[in-house]
Amino acid sequence: MSLSGKTAVVTGSNSGIGLCIARTLAQGGADIVLNSFTDRDDDHALAAEIAAETGVTARYIQADMSKASDCRALVEKAGKCDILVNNAGIQHVAPIDQFPQDKWDAIIAINMNSAFHTTAVALPMMRKAGWGRVINLASAHGLRASPFKSAYITAKHGLVGMTKTVALETAQEPITCNAICPGYVLTPLVETQIPDTAREYGISEEEAIEQVILLKQPSKDFVTVEQLAGIATFLCSPSADQITGTTISADGGWTSQ
Ligand code: NAD
Repeated sequence: MSLSGKTAVVTGSNSGIGLCIARTLAQGGADIVLNSFTDRDDDHALAAEIAAETGVTARYIQADMSKASDCRALVEKAGKCDILVNNAGIQHVAPIDQFPQDKWDAIIAINMNSAFHTTAVALPMMRKAGWGRVINLASAHGLRASPFKSAYITAKHGLVGMTKTVALETAQEPITCNAICPGYVLTPLVETQIPDTAREYGISEEEAIEQVILLKQPSKDFVTVEQLAGIATFLCSPSADQITGTTISADGGWTSQ
């Protein structure tokens, strides 16, 4: 399968899961738009590196996914969007009565609202092109709750709901919309949660990994970014034409409990 001629816009893709998905879609032949809220030389260098490695066109477009206008401008500036990967996300860990309001607002905006804005602009482009894929990076926390993560869990459950709705609205078109629900993946997002979790529970960082972070992941193994990029690639393949409105869990058995 070649994704040649397709353009993939991956939000929050200068790091972690988004970067690996973008790189892998580029290896499959898709032109790539990388994104984050920063505008550093390193960000543009990443795009140049992917272009040099794969021969596709790769651009970095700065846009802050906490701002509705930036979300919409990202897809407009991309000009074409056959594959939209809503991946940008942040986390904050605190009990709900101590949860900072600004963190709540930022998590809801970046992890959930951004997908509404990007999808709203991308769908007409997909309809015009006669093909489209919306892939939302939700989480096992889009299907199950854990304490101290109220904003993240609210946003990810919302994103799963949005996924189903978009799938129904596009069901009779050659467009699909699905959510990938990973368990814990060792990326910068999780690395920063280790000290926070240790502090919340009053335990060491090693104990936080074993007893809290991977407590619910029966495999006791982190998911890899490459595995998630493989799922995203599969969702872009003809085998996935009838897969829409669903959640694909990659969580070492977490949500079967
Ligand atoms: P990460 O911190 O490595 O990457 C997050 C990306 O989002 C980065 O590129 C960052 O620059 C970008 N970002 C943050 N704020 C932004 C903003 N305002 N505007 C634009 N971009 C912004 O984290 P990750 O682990 O790769 O997470 C990617 C996605 O996967 C997130 O939605 C996360 O919730 C989800 N997820 C991660 C895990 C995990 O264990 N790491 C598990 C389940 C789901």
